[in-house]
Order: sequence, then C-alpha cells, then structure tokens
Amino acid sequence: MRAGAGPALPDKHSARHEQVTMSDCINWTGATFTSHGNTYGRTGNRLAHRQAYTRAKGQIPAGMVIDHLCRNGLCVNPEHLEAVSNTVNIMRGEGQPAKNARKTHCWRGHELTPDNTWNKRGRRACRQCDIERYHSAEYLAHQRERRRR
Ligand SMILES: [Zn+2]
Ligand SMILES: [Zn+2]
Repeated sequence: MRAGAGPALPDKHSARHEQVTMSDCINWTGATFTSHGNTYGRTGNRLAHRQAYTRAKGQIPAGMVIDHLCRNGLCVNPEHLEAVSNTVNIMRGEGQPAKNARKTHCWRGHELTPDNTWNKRGRRACRQCDIERYHSAEYLAHQRERRRR
C-alpha cells in the first residue's frame, strides 16, 4: 500500500493507459488477459480503478466500492468513477435484482404497487399476473376438457 500522495503518475504507469478518443473513457490495459482462465485480470482491473479514484479524489470511504458511471468496467477515468455503497452499486447494476427493484410495471404492464405485489422468494411478483396466469391455466384446462369429449 502506498503511503502519502505521490507527485504525478510515473511514466511507466501512465503509459499503460490507453486514451479512447471516442468517449472520455480511459481504458485500463495493464492487466487484462482472459485466456488461460486466469482471474488475475479482473482483480487487476478492480485495483486499477480504485487506485485511479484514490489518486484523483482521495481515500475511498470504508465499505464503499467504486462504481463506473460510464458502465465501462475497464475505465479508469476518475471523472467516471464514483465511490458508492455496495448496495447502490448493486441497485445501479444490470443484474436481475436491480432491474426488479427499479421496475414500476411488470412486463405485462400492470402497475407494481405494494398492493399488487407479493414477495416471491425475495423478488416482487405481480399479483395481477398471477391472477391472469391462474385464469388462463384454468381456461386451457377447460379447453382440453372440451376437446376430449
Ligand atoms: Zn468511462
Ligand atoms: Zn403483471
């Protein structure tokens, strides 16, 4: 761990940053390799943007993680990095729990009010959908029954 803020970035280090002119993202190219199933590359990226943030903005508060505002996991542009609590990071993410929590309507367009939702294994489920599913299943069974006669 480095003690105290160094002057400028050593040349050797900044040479490892590849300037991307299309956007303001600065892609970390130092420790990325995905072949051979080595996971070191991922760890390297994490450290890279944590270091980039610390250099530009100071210490990362305890319990906070670095979030990419640009959604580019390789980006080490301090302007694109923000220290957020782990929960915020998950909520902003593209994972299913985040998407589920952000939704205001179910995929069928029913409004997800507290009254219209229930907790289905930790996820919000739409009651109206369940009702419709139930009725349609019933309907299909009924149709099958009729065909059999
Ligand atoms: Zn970026
Ligand atoms: Zn629904």
